[in-house]
Order: sequence, then C-alpha cells, then structure tokens
Amino acid sequence: MKPTYKFQVKPILPTILEPLRRLAHNIHWDWNVAAKSLFVRLDPDLWQQTCHNPVAMLGQVDQSRLDELAQDDGFIAHMERAIEQLDDYLQQHTWYHKSRGETKGKECYAYFCAEYGLSYCLPIYSGGLGILAGDHLKSASDLGLPLVAVGLLYQEGYFAQYFNHDGWQQEEYPINDFYNMPLHLEKDDQGNELVIEVEFPGRLVYARVWRIDVGNVPLYLLDTNIEQNTNPYDHDITDKLYGGDRNLRLHQEMLLGIGGVRMLEKLGYTPTVYHMNEGHSAFLILERIRKLMQEDGLTFRHAKQFALSTQMFTTHTPVSAGFDLFSPEQTLHYVGHYAEKFGLSRDRFLGLGRENTGDFEAPFNMAIFALKHSAFINGVSQLHGHVSREMFHSLWPDFPLAEVGITAITNGVHARSVTAPATQDLYDRYLAPNWDEAPANSPIWQKVATIPNEELWRNHERQRSDLVVYIRQHLVSQLQQQGATEAAIEKARQVLKPNFLTIGFARRFATYKRANLFLYDIERIKKIILADPERRVQFVIAGKAHPEDIPGKELIRQIIHTIREEGIEDYVVFLPNYNIHIARKMVSGCDVWLNTPRRPREASGTSGMKAAMNGLPNLSILDGWWDEADYIRTGWAIGNGEIYDDPDYQDRVEASALYELLEKEIVPLFYTRNSFDVPEGWVNKMKEAIRLNCPMFNTSRMLRDYAQQAYFKLSDRHFELSQDNYQAVQALADWKSELFKAWYNIRIEAFEVTESMAIDIQQPIHVQAILDLVGLTPDDLAVQIYLGTINDKDELIDGESTTMVFQGMTPDHKAIYEHVVKYQKSGYQGMALRILPHHPHLADATEPRLIRWA
Ligand SMILES: *Cc1c(COP(=O)(O)O)cnc(C)c1O
Repeated sequence: MKPTYKFQVKPILPTILEPLRRLAHNIHWDWNVAAKSLFVRLDPDLWQQTCHNPVAMLGQVDQSRLDELAQDDGFIAHMERAIEQLDDYLQQHTWYHKSRGETKGKECYAYFCAEYGLSYCLPIYSGGLGILAGDHLKSASDLGLPLVAVGLLYQEGYFAQYFNHDGWQQEEYPINDFYNMPLHLEKDDQGNELVIEVEFPGRLVYARVWRIDVGNVPLYLLDTNIEQNTNPYDHDITDKLYGGDRNLRLHQEMLLGIGGVRMLEKLGYTPTVYHMNEGHSAFLILERIRKLMQEDGLTFRHAKQFALSTQMFTTHTPVSAGFDLFSPEQTLHYVGHYAEKFGLSRDRFLGLGRENTGDFEAPFNMAIFALKHSAFINGVSQLHGHVSREMFHSLWPDFPLAEVGITAITNGVHARSVTAPATQDLYDRYLAPNWDEAPANSPIWQKVATIPNEELWRNHERQRSDLVVYIRQHLVSQLQQQGATEAAIEKARQVLKPNFLTIGFARRFATYKRANLFLYDIERIKKIILADPERRVQFVIAGKAHPEDIPGKELIRQIIHTIREEGIEDYVVFLPNYNIHIARKMVSGCDVWLNTPRRPREASGTSGMKAAMNGLPNLSILDGWWDEADYIRTGWAIGNGEIYDDPDYQDRVEASALYELLEKEIVPLFYTRNSFDVPEGWVNKMKEAIRLNCPMFNTSRMLRDYAQQAYFKLSDRHFELSQDNYQAVQALADWKSELFKAWYNIRIEAFEVTESMAIDIQQPIHVQAILDLVGLTPDDLAVQIYLGTINDKDELIDGESTTMVFQGMTPDHKAIYEHVVKYQKSGYQGMALRILPHHPHLADATEPRLIRWA
C-alpha cells in the first residue's frame, strides 16, 4: 500500500539535551573520544543495535531515559565537554591557514569518489578505496583544507556477510534509512528539495542532494530515488554500490561525474581543482568542457586545456583489468551528445578515452580518459607508482620509464579514527596532544621511548582481551540468529584465549590476496599453533568476497572447512561481516598484522597501517606500502620481493618463509618475558612501529603531500589561466597546437663533443648542439643532455638529464646550445641529446607527452 501522506517526524529532546542533536549530525564524533563515549553512555545497547548511529538513537531512545539524563550532572558535564571540543575543532587555526600563503581568490578543491567509508553507521563503501576516501575527508578537515566532496548515496548498503552451514558466503543488503542517518537534505531558497538533472537518452534523470558534515568538510551525495523520475528504472540508479550490469555502472558514473559538477554549481561552489579519486568520476571532464564552451565561450581546444590544467587523477589499480571500460556503442549512446557539442567526430571523441587513438575498435577506458586530461597523476605507494608507469608507458612513448608522468603519494589512514581510545590517551600523555598530525621530523616521536614498557604492554593486553570478548559475543549472536545448537553456541563462547599470540588477517577475499597462504602446509601450521601449550598461536580472519566473485567465495569456504576438519576451531576463527568497526577492533587487539598478497598486486593496502597506528608489527610480503616501510625494525618481511613465473612455486617459497619467521622469530620474541611478564623485545618492536610508521602512514601526511604537490599548484594555475577571460589558457592551448605541428620537423643538425672515447671520471666534456627550430623559439624547448650507463642491450639506462644553455643563432638562423658535462661514474657510459617542450603554464614537461631524441 502506498501512503497518502508522508511526514518526517523529529524526536523531542529535553531542552538541556538539545546539543546532542548538533553533536549527532557532524560525524566528527567518529574520531572524537569524548563525543563517541557520550553516545555509548546514552544507551550502550541501542548504540550496538543502531550500528553506532547517534541520529537513529535520538529517535529511538526512551523518553524516560532522556528525562533521567536531563537530571544527570555527570552526563551533562560530559556532553558540554564534547560540544566544546566540537566547537573548538570547527574554529581552530589550522595547518592550511599557516602554510598556504596568499591566493588570488577563493579556493575550493572538489574531490570525487564513488564510495566513502566514514563510519560504521554509513555503509556506503565496499572496501579500501572507500575507507581511504573517508580518511581523506577527515584529514582535510583536520588540516583546514577548503575541500568539498562528491559521491552517491546508495539506498542499499554494501552487503552484510554471514555463512551458511557449508561455509558459503550469504549476502544481506541493509536498506539505508536516510532520515535516520547523520545526513542533511539540501533545500533551495524556497525550502524545496534541491534537485539536479542529467540528460539520459530520451529523458532527464533527476537527483536530490544529501550532505554529511565531516568536521569542516561537506560531503554531498546524489540520490535518484525521487518522484521526479517517472521511469522506475531511474529510481534505482543509486540503489546499490557496484551492483548491476555495465549499463548501470555507466549510469552511476554519469551521475557522479556530470551530476556532481552540476550539483556543486547549484550549491554555489566554484572549484579551482577537480580531484578524480579512481576513474569512476571521469565524466566530469565532459561536463566541465561543455560548461567552459557554452558558458564562457571557449573553443573546444581552449576548454579542454583549461580542464586539463586544473584536474588531477589518483589511480588505485595495479592491473589493467581493473579499469572501467565501456564499448564504443554504449559510450556514444549515453554521452555521444557531448561529441556534437564539442564538434568532434565519433572517433575523435572516443579517442579521448583510448590508449591508441588509431584503434577504432577499442572501448572507452575511464582511466585513460582521466590520465589524458590531468595535470597531476599519482599512484598510491612508491611501488604502485612504478607499476603504473609501466602500465601506461605507451601514453608517454620514448620517455624513460622513470620519467613517465605519473608520480606516487603513498596512502595513509586517519590516526584518530583507527587508534583505540585508550592508546590515543597514552600517546596524548606521553607524546603530545597533536601526535596525530606531527610530521616525521618532529621531536615528539623520540618521546615514544618514554612510554613505560609495562604500561604500553598492559594497554595492549587490554585491547587483545577486549577483542577476544567481542569475537565470542559476535559469534554467539550470529549462531543464535541462525538457530544453531546449544553445543555449538557453547563452543563459540570459548574460542580463542585472551593471552595467546594473536595474528590478524582481514581484507577483501580476492584470490590474489592469498588469504589461505598460512594454511599452505597444514601440518606445519598446526605444529606452530599447538606444539607448545605455553606458546600457543591463534589467528583471527575476516573479509568479504565480492558477491560475484565465485573463486573468492570458494576460498572462504575452503578456509572454513579446513578449520573444522583439522579441529583447530579454538585457534583459528573466521569472523563474519568484516566492516569498518570490526577492522578497528582487530587492528588494535591482534599482536601481528599479516598480509600475503601476490606482489605487485596490492596497490597500497591500508589495514597494516591501521595496525601500526596501534603499535602492531606487520608481517607481510614486500608489496604496496610495506615495501617502502622500515620492515626490519617495525615488523618482518616475507621473502625479499621476488616474483617467480610459477605461481605454485611462489606460494610454496613464501609460505615456507612465513612459517620460518613464525617459528624462529615471532613466537620466541612474543613469549620471552621479563620478571613482570613483559616481552621486552616485542615491546621494543611495537615502539619502533609507533615511532617510524605513525608519522609516515597517516592521512595527515598524505593530505599535506596532496596539498603541496598538487592542490596548491593546480589552484594557483586556475587563477592564472582564467584571468582576463581565459587569456593565458588560450595562449597555452594555441602554443601547444603550434608545437604539435612543428614538433617532428625540428632538426638536429649537429651534436658534437670535444672529447674522444677514453676519458677520465670528472673530466669536463664540452657538448654543442645545433638545431633548426622550424619557427619555434628557444623558449619553447628544453634541450637536454642525458647521461647514463649502457647496459648489455646497448641501451642507455638510469640516466640523468641536464638542460643545455642557448648561446644564440647561427647566421642561417639555427639555434646553438652548449653545455659542459662530467661523468660521476666510471665504466661504459653513454650520452644522448633530447628535446622536451617548455612553457611556464605547463604542469610539467610531461604534460604534452612529447619527447624527441637525437
Ligand atoms: C582498512 C579497510 C580495508 C582496506 O584494507 P586493505 O589492507 O587495503 O585490504 C578494507 N575494508 C575495511 C572495512 C577496512 O577497514
């Protein structure tokens, strides 16, 4: 039955408790201990039942409980402390104000992502990408960056996981009740819902806008489930995260990219930087170019240049199969109208998203589209940056691999969100209250040594026993819901022990993550677990497989079966329904964090960083972030980064390395105790993890990197290029066109050196080059000497370049360049001459993707 009337009913709070409403509606409470503990105190059971949702709690809590609290001075004082902390937080003078210096106008960085993992009660994320995006917003808020975020609001949350008796993953999709979540519905001046529209074939699709306040950063989310959409299908565009077929994926991406740009405009924002976090939002490029053409009167070429100069792209995928591809027909059917507006032929339009523009069969690739239209591109760890440069080398043909225009900013985690409250308190007291933002060179990190070993250890033991209690309760309630036998429930009440060495492993169950590697040799691992009653080892495992990933689900089932068949249920527990809350429990309560991906498939990985924030050593394959960490002092490396052709051999070698580390190093170190039962060696390792990893692998450092390497520069460029009716960008784009025309006609007439073959190290060599610039000027180019070693294939490798100095023109108008170079290394060395474009408004020399070698 359809309702005749609809009401939005608000709870009534006693006046004195009114601040609770404001606290509940800014999810700052997710990383503020005072606010969070206040809501737990309000009603601990309801806190659990609502999945930690203060807004829903305020609607459900008993009136008598509220009246009681209104009289409770302790509670009121606690509430006032929390609201004071929120107010202070929202007004504090921040890193941005201290570091930015003057700008030419009001800046705004627009951040686009398909998912956000912010807190347990907002299940609009599936995994690592979403959690990273959520942490990005939290740290942007901490640092005071003028960032605004765009996403989609999914009606169905990402699935909750449970297992049937056979260990086969079952999925249950929670329905998000937006009115009972920390969301604000955006209205226009007349009080009507703010609605944006996007052209779809034969119709318009409408969406309304919800806002989540993430501290000082607003996150706007689009929702198509509204009456204006007369086509029932359109209601469901934002139904599910990563559900449905290729068409639905395309529709969601149109809404995110195109709708997102329109939404920001309607809300009154004028972004100076557009950050595409993964390729899902890349259609924003189309909408920006259209607006620049139709509203600001630019030509396609000029508009495209302006968009490019102010856009950036972060890729998270280390395999080409991970990118979104749409067939040419599908792409043209849905967004082909942009080709007409741009005045482009079908194939020139599709070429914007093709690696090889001459391949007319190739699909439209969202990552390529974003790459070709960004002034800053990065991978998410140093190793992933390298892998990305290899993957996209063909877009920068003839560039040395190291100079492909993709850099890296290593991921991080939001320290205050992932560190256990008691541990935060420890750091607050012994390091400094701003430890969560202190850079690596700050002296506060030396103070880690001042934390008494016993205090750090007792605190950690508390976290471990909390985790064991939590796991038992969680398993028991799951079993009760499934109607399990009393015997099975009784068994679940006893699993794990609060004092055993506990190894955690939790992540998405993609097969490359090899969750079962530790079970490779079942007899050997059983021996490690059970051999010594005084030195037992236990494992906590969690993770979801994508609903369509049958091999991933099979892997989970296998693990569950192995645990049962081998009778190690008390020592190896598969904890169902991995989510942001369980993750935080595990990374604080385990002793070691295990990760066994197939290198180099893990772009970064962030759960190990969360563990490090809590002082856990990591035990991992050298992949993603761990490859660049101090893995000797802060944990253990499995293998040495080798990649073998035979995957079975790889598994065997790495499983064996893992067992050896457990047997010879990890178990002995953990169980060697002093007279106070404190494992001194282990605690030292924990302190090194805190001292070295906390300041590096957090989103505060990451956001400062994004700001200094990208946001500030792109934003400055926005103002420079748009001044006086976009004069500078027109000049830049025109210059580029001339450059492209002349580029392959530039002639290197002479390239000579003064010395002969045999020279001494550090001996000066005079180099002269004469070039016919075919109408270009010396300012348009950087003519460089490239010095490097010659390898066995007669190639120049590991080269370094220096720019030659322009000396003047010859009588027949050829440009003369000279330089003196010296070899710093002996051996078989080579020299080459190369030319790169140069213009003060280019992002850098790689932007035009042109290079010439003599
Ligand atoms: C941190 C986190 C992830 C990502 O962890 P990885 O180590 O990158 O696999 C995934 N899901 C949840 C719920 C998380 O908290």
